[in-house]
This record gives sequence, C-alpha cells and structure tokens, in this order.
Amino acid sequence: MKNNQRIHNFGAGPAVLPIEVVEEVAASLPNILESGFGLLEISHRSDVFQGIMDNAINSIRKILKVPDEYEVLLLQGGASLQFYMSALNILRKGEKADYLITGGWSKKALKEAKRIGDAEFIWTDEQNNFKMVPNNGEYEVRDDAKYVHYTSNNTLYGTQYHNIPDSKGKPLIVDASSDITGVDLDVSKHDIIYAGAQKNLGPSGVTLVIISPWAMSQMDDDIPSMLNYQVHASKGSMFNTPNTFGIFVLSKVLAWLERNGGMDGSIKRNLEKSNIIYKELDRTDFWRPHASKDSRSRMNVTWNLKNKELEEKFIQESLEAGFGGLKGHRSVGGIRASMYNYIPKESVEALVEFMNKFEFKYSEK
Ligand SMILES: *Cc1c(COP(=O)(O)O)cnc(C)c1O
Repeated sequence: MKNNQRIHNFGAGPAVLPIEVVEEVAASLPNILESGFGLLEISHRSDVFQGIMDNAINSIRKILKVPDEYEVLLLQGGASLQFYMSALNILRKGEKADYLITGGWSKKALKEAKRIGDAEFIWTDEQNNFKMVPNNGEYEVRDDAKYVHYTSNNTLYGTQYHNIPDSKGKPLIVDASSDITGVDLDVSKHDIIYAGAQKNLGPSGVTLVIISPWAMSQMDDDIPSMLNYQVHASKGSMFNTPNTFGIFVLSKVLAWLERNGGMDGSIKRNLEKSNIIYKELDRTDFWRPHASKDSRSRMNVTWNLKNKELEEKFIQESLEAGFGGLKGHRSVGGIRASMYNYIPKESVEALVEFMNKFEFKYSEK
C-alpha cells in the first residue's frame, strides 16, 4: 500500500484515529503550538505542556460528564496495571471483592486482585465460551464485599453490558478500556473507572483513571508512590514524567470528539455502524455470530464461519481487498471486526459489501 492509501482498519487496538488528528500530530513534531519546541522534545514542566494536560483533563470531564469532586488521572502502565492498582488502593488483606467474569480481561483483573485480598468471581460464562454478560439477579454479591468489579465491554469475545450491573449498593469498579466514550457511561454510578487509551481515546501508553471521593478516601500510606492514586492526584498526573506524546495525541482526539457531538455523537455513530454489520450477520447462516443477541457488543463484533479453512480464506482475501485487523483473538478464533469511535461508517459499509461477495463465492449452492 502506498503511503497515502489507508487500510480499512478494523484492528482491536491500538486502533484507527481520525485522519485530521494524525495529520495534526505529524505537523506538530518539529514545532508544537508555535513554541519552537518539537512535540517529542518539550518539557512536561513547561507552560505549553501544562496547557495540553489541562485541555485533555477538561475534555474528559466535559465529554464524560465527570462530577466535579471526582479525580481524573492520566497514568501509564495500561489497563493491565489498573487490574492490580485499583484493588491495591481499595482492598486490604482479608477483605472481600466480587468480580463478574465475562472474558479474558476480567479473569486477569481477578487474578491480580487475589494477590491483595479475598477476591472471588461471583458469576462467569466461561463454560459457555463467554457468549454473554449476566442479567441482574443471576449472581449474588457477598454481604461484606468492599466492591464489585466488571468489564463493560469484552474486547475478545464481543459482548457488552447494556446496563450497569447491579452491585447491590456496593461501590463499583469498571474496566471500560474498550468502550469508554463509545457508549453511554454514567460516571457518577462508579467509584473507579479505568481505561487504556488505545481503543477509543488515542494511542497506547496512556491510561485514564477516574476516581470517586469514596475511593480516594480508602488509600493508606503503605501503598508505593507510583501505585498510589493520592500521590498521582496530588501531582496532577505528573508525579513522574508523563507520556507527553500520548497525552498530546489524546487531547487532540478528544477535541475532535467534542467537535463531533461528544459522547452522544459517538453513541449514535457506533450504534449505526454495529447495526449495519449485525444485520448482515443475521441475514444468512453462512455467518455464525458468537455473542448472544442481548449481549452483543457495539465495539467488537465476533463471528465464525463453517470451518477454520474458510475463516483463513476470509482473513486472507479481506486483507487483499483492503481490510485489516479482522483476525479474531486467538482465544475465540474466527473473525473480529473492531469498530471503535473513529472507524468511519464507509469502512463498515465496504466490509459488508465484501462479505456479500465472499458469501456468494463460497456458499454451497
Ligand atoms: C485492551 C484491553 C485491556 C488491556 O489494556 P492494556 O492497556 O494493554 O493493559 C484491558 N481490558 C480491556 C477490556 C481491554 O480491551
């Protein structure tokens, strides 16, 4: 592919960004905001960078309607560090935490929390290869659980909650890495929200963490500085050198989102895009969608074909036709089309057109 030709990028993350943002970033490399400093070469202690950080945090507050008393942090280490860090800041040895297990990411979150306290799963769909999320009432929260943790969108299996799970009045922690700003999220109903940026917010290497006053009050001084939300909050996410490049890109992505209808705009676009592809999957038995209908994700759509051989042909031929990133995660196999905020509807329409041709070529008549 030539430099100016871009693939229809259905990759699961790092994911496609708006081309305007990519071009703005490229133009800022030698000289950022007319400061004379290059984007990769500017101090995080400069006024220019402080302005970028402030803009990013303000955009997040606006887009996600974050209550004023909540902290908003931009950290490093990915969502994977937050599996441990969120538990470490809240849970003490012997205390209970309850986890809803809907895929590989929630299993990893639980594994890390078990290092700290009495963390257990209270619901899992593993026996069914993670086809659904739980309905309220299908699980019991332990009386003395300190919090309930869930994964809002299951990137690998293509399932998603369409309502906040009932935590029976307990504080709620969510890994929202793969649907933050892409679907409705009521921040005020959660105590910790964390998300790696590389799906809906920007590049890898930046992690958004939003923390309620209750959660902020749970930390004690034994927690190592780099793992302590209090420390990061007191330093405005600059206890150590932040990912300056990543935060700049994130600020530009969020500015794009604000210009394009904010969270409501992306919710509408994502619903439209996912409906186009589910309609095709339901049209014919040639496609075998993985997720149960009620639990279908608007961000990652997963399906199988009759056999592995045909799936491999699909991946190969789709790549030749200009579609990238469609290979399913190794834990599910098959096909996965990830459609986060910034993949255009035209890419999804083009994919469905390709799917029609593929079916025509390979269906048994
Ligand atoms: C991608 C993803 C992760 C992993 O994020 P890292 O930033 O790579 O640690 C965790 N949880 C979910 C739901 C994801 O989609």
